[in-house]
Amino acid sequence: VKKPGQKIAKGHKNYDLMLNLQLGIRHSVGKHASISSDLKASDFDPKEKFWTRFPTEGSKSTPPHQSMEFRWKDYCPAVFRHLRKLFQVDSADYMISICGNDALRELSSPGKSGSFFYLTENDRFIIKTVKKAEAKVLIKMLPSYYKHVYQHENSLVTKFFGIHCVKPVGGVKTRFIVMGNLFCSEYRIHKRFDLKGSSHGRTSSKHDGQIDETTTLKDLDLNFVFRLQTSWYQELMKQINRDCEFLEAERIMDYSLLVGIHFRDDNTGDTIGLSPFILRIGENDSYQNVKSMRSYRFLEAELQGRDQILPGRKPPIRLGANMPARAERVTRRSDVDHYTAGGFSHTTPQCCSETYTVVLYFGIIDILQDYDISKKLEHAYKSLHVDPASISAVDPKLYSKRFKDFVGRTFVEDR
Ligand code: ATP
Ligand code: CA
Ligand code: CA
Repeated sequence: VKKPGQKIAKGHKNYDLMLNLQLGIRHSVGKHASISSDLKASDFDPKEKFWTRFPTEGSKSTPPHQSMEFRWKDYCPAVFRHLRKLFQVDSADYMISICGNDALRELSSPGKSGSFFYLTENDRFIIKTVKKAEAKVLIKMLPSYYKHVYQHENSLVTKFFGIHCVKPVGGVKTRFIVMGNLFCSEYRIHKRFDLKGSSHGRTSSKHDGQIDETTTLKDLDLNFVFRLQTSWYQELMKQINRDCEFLEAERIMDYSLLVGIHFRDDNTGDTIGLSPFILRIGENDSYQNVKSMRSYRFLEAELQGRDQILPGRKPPIRLGANMPARAERVTRRSDVDHYTAGGFSHTTPQCCSETYTVVLYFGIIDILQDYDISKKLEHAYKSLHVDPASISAVDPKLYSKRFKDFVGRTFVEDR
């Protein structure tokens, strides 16, 4: 299996940044290994940030290291400790995943924004550098974000595990977030789509020859609808509505539904590591059953002192992770045919009755862009040239409506 990205070895231009980040996270996680108290309102205070100095020679609270002296900032650490617990991320696992030797790979900047992405070797976590404005958005939304993910365990919005800042002496600040990798899976992800529900410019920039499993395809490249069992379909629509309501209230736009597809009929035979198991929800398995089965498995895993599912066992099914579905290939006669104003038109795409049994992974990513002045300008400028409804940059209300409509057309009930 081809591993995406490039290992950050000595000599890599971001090697020092990686070392600093690892030292910082080890420090932050180690400092408060156990959760002693309940969250207080003051833990969410944006001023709740802590600077630590990491001199090269070490200090009372920091180890000696090989890079230049730097400063490290932790934002709202108590909140993120609680979030990690809520998301069942064990502190030791977290630290080892990120801070181990050879732990990080740099992904060749997948987005247009200029952010850097780092993936842990075990595929569980992604670190993304963010702009100051994005960091601000996250800290500001933290109370409602916490409430939202606390209330909805099936929420599809990005799981955040931490936000930090590194500043080498005499250098510039780098802010970054740690989040869950949606595609952390024992199955191989054969295709990935970053979907916004808008059409303008929404095609992969890669030329045919370069497209492979690690290429992120976009709206105009999508040639499937996904058929879900009724109970899952209904749960998905409910959750998308709740998630969009949350994002709209926070004035967020420009987010995407990131979808990864594993084709079960793949006969290359390399599901990663674990013995193949079949995920099938029978007619009688209501969502409730599946849910309690899930809780049971976590309980079981917890009793064994770990949050991972042992080899040979069925992994838990979660909305958006390990979801069994049928992917039906659809064709468009031309782009304008089915991708008109605002994205897709309402005509049913033509099906060629080619269906595949798949396992889906998906979630809502890139949720830290608010509708600020630059996005308003982008909207105004692009509106001069193309249909305003087809542009990604639109008001959060319109954005979420278009997004929901799009999801409702891309996922359908499998009767
Ligand atoms: P832009 O603003 O131009 O869209 P960006 O730099 O903000 O780009 P994102 O949209 O956050 O970047 O992510 C870019 C790509 O990185 C996604 O299309 C996806 O392929 C990958 N990616 C981002 N977050 C995750 C995640 N949580 N799990 C898996 N892959 C991710
Ligand atoms: Ca994006
Ligand atoms: Ca972005």
